[in-house]
Amino acid sequence: MADILYTFENKVYLNLTNACPCRCKFCIRQNGDAVGEAQTLWFEAHSPSFDEIKAAIDAWDFTSYTQEVVFCGYGEPTCAYENLLKTAAYLKEKGLKLRLNTNGLSDLINKKPTAKEICKYFDTVSVSLNAPTAEKYDDLCAPSFGNASFEAILKFARECKETGVNVKFTVVDVISKEDIAACQKLADEMGIPLRVRTYTS
Ligand code: SF4
Repeated sequence: MADILYTFENKVYLNLTNACPCRCKFCIRQNGDAVGEAQTLWFEAHSPSFDEIKAAIDAWDFTSYTQEVVFCGYGEPTCAYENLLKTAAYLKEKGLKLRLNTNGLSDLINKKPTAKEICKYFDTVSVSLNAPTAEKYDDLCAPSFGNASFEAILKFARECKETGVNVKFTVVDVISKEDIAACQKLADEMGIPLRVRTYTS
């Protein structure tokens, strides 16, 4: 079984699934089997059940980790939607702050609006914007949903913001300076802060 919980730069991360509808050119999964202190983040046969996730949480000592717990891992967390919500609710009961790192495609993955439901549990939602236009997004991230993906990401981020949750956009510095500037403009127009992440190979 892959690590369900692991630490990276002194934060606790949750790895719920390896499923993802994208194939981003910069995806860290292409560079190795794990990040941080994890041994492997690839699940061999199946994604963990909620009982397996709960057991991993119960065995973990959170006392030295006072920062937020981050749902990220080697896949898109909203692909494990029911477990994502149940796990977030379980951790919230423990008084922990939660951040979701997502590709923003949850509505297309789960075939329904999901922002409100997700934002009930999370303090921060970090959405990978990645590109300034649908065409550039498709080229960089190859989403299985095709051209509808970029608009769906913007809608998801907008609806998260409407709930009052702390929403952030991210881009990775593999794109041009001009594209980063265009992403910044788009983020500014939506009133959502943008963080430029450094690509790590
Ligand atoms: S959305 Fe995330 S997990 Fe999926 S391919 Fe892109 S970087 Fe990798």
